[in-house]
Amino acid sequence: MRGLRIATIGGDGVGPEVIEATLPVLRAAAEASGVSVETVALDWGGEHMLRTGRAMPADGADVLSECDGVLFGAVGRPDIPDDELIWGLIIGLRQALDLAVNVRPVRSWDGVTTAVRTEEPIDFVVVRENTEGEYAGVGGRVGQLGIEVAVHSRTAIERTARYAFDLARQRRGRVSLVTKSNAMRYGYPLWDEVTASVHLDYPDVELEHVLVDAMAARMVQRPGGLDVLLCSNLFGDILSDLAAGLVGGMGMAPSANVLPGRGPGLFEPVHGSAPDIAGAGIANPVACLLSAALLLDHTGVEGAGDRIRSAVTTTLRDPATHTPDLGGTATTTDLSTSVLTNLQQPAGGAPSAPTEHLVSLPTSRR
Ligand code: ATP
Repeated sequence: MRGLRIATIGGDGVGPEVIEATLPVLRAAAEASGVSVETVALDWGGEHMLRTGRAMPADGADVLSECDGVLFGAVGRPDIPDDELIWGLIIGLRQALDLAVNVRPVRSWDGVTTAVRTEEPIDFVVVRENTEGEYAGVGGRVGQLGIEVAVHSRTAIERTARYAFDLARQRRGRVSLVTKSNAMRYGYPLWDEVTASVHLDYPDVELEHVLVDAMAARMVQRPGGLDVLLCSNLFGDILSDLAAGLVGGMGMAPSANVLPGRGPGLFEPVHGSAPDIAGAGIANPVACLLSAALLLDHTGVEGAGDRIRSAVTTTLRDPATHTPDLGGTATTTDLSTSVLTNLQQPAGGAPSAPTEHLVSLPTSRR
């Protein structure tokens, strides 16, 4: 039997709760494809920082490199400044492992109310450059002057664009490049130029250029027609939270951090540590379950990611499984147990949930 070695970092707040709810589902989905899962639990995050002065050990990235994938919960504690933990762990890991691309699928689900009225289902993916742009960490403070420099390189834009075009090819063949090239005269025109040159290799994929402000309005007014959004680090960060809000909130939004063609990837719910509900057992585990599905796609475990997505689809159709953020009264465990049951016994022999709108990642070319 093939085996996967998965590192898990629960982190802070609801992070450990959603990871714990997800692992049995991940394991069952992989085993149904004939793949066993060994997990390596790492206690990194806020508590580790209070204890040792660091959010993770100095050789953290090396430890993760030994694994096939990383499932990450959340980071953030009220008693530690946000930037220290975020840079000490998640942004630090994205940079150390060179996780060049952040992928955030967004879709509407039967049974879950969307924030906007739309005839067509919502089903698009935000592909975000993950290592530089406005989060490059370049700048400084001089008295009352704060300087934050955005860094955009051809290499980073090109690899992100290539990923977006590859993904669009597997989907509905449409990339929307999101910039602000009318007001910002250096970095975003480079995005336009590099993306247009990558597009030459993908004549079968349609490319449109959209300004970020226009895209924000379009996501609310006509989200149905969107397919793949290609974004810089900052714009992808903001638009993907807006997108999560459209389809049921932060508890529904998964993400993948990958270096196409090389692993391991890091997979995490988009939400943070949600200190307001931590410990109450009511966090929605769907974002983490769907992140585990992306991990299985990326590691090339045939059919396992779709198995999780189908089971989540069936579960969400039943309002009795909805956690409070979705308007229900179910607990984290109620929801994840229902997903596990639906995964192991797909609806008593009835056809499994339709998968035509489900999103897979291009398989790792490792
Ligand atoms: P952090 O400082 O770690 O980013 P935060 O509370 O500022 O934490 P989020 O954790 O993203 O940011 O939470 C934003 C809101 O969404 C909170 O009201 C939180 O309760 C809610 N939320 C986030 N994740 C979930 C989840 N998995 N299930 C239910 N509600 C969630």
